[in-house]
Amino acid sequence: MTAYDVPPSDPNQVYDITVGRITVNPPLDPENARYESFVGRALEADSSFFEDGEPSMPEPPAPVVLACQHPQGDGVCASTQLRVRGTWNTPAAIICENGHTWQGTVEMMRSAISILRRTS
Ligand SMILES: [Zn+2]
Repeated sequence: MTAYDVPPSDPNQVYDITVGRITVNPPLDPENARYESFVGRALEADSSFFEDGEPSMPEPPAPVVLACQHPQGDGVCASTQLRVRGTWNTPAAIICENGHTWQGTVEMMRSAISILRRTS
């Protein structure tokens, strides 16, 4: 368990967070990503891999900046100035600076709450 996984004291508290740019992991489930990366490294037979007993967690895939995908003009809005709203246990409702809304994931909401708690 990391701090990231610890719910707030009141998991039903509704957060409304201006996150600006928010980074998300690529579609792959983070647990699966770690597992695949772990297996990949183990199979490389890296002799140093298990030297220190507990194998260290491999790096997850590089996060990407989430941008609004709503059509606007000839392209997409692509705004990265976002707000998220929700609770620890509900998917993020995402609102961009231009008023487009869409639904994110529970993970997204949790990471926004975690960022908020780290910075406040
Ligand atoms: Zn937008």
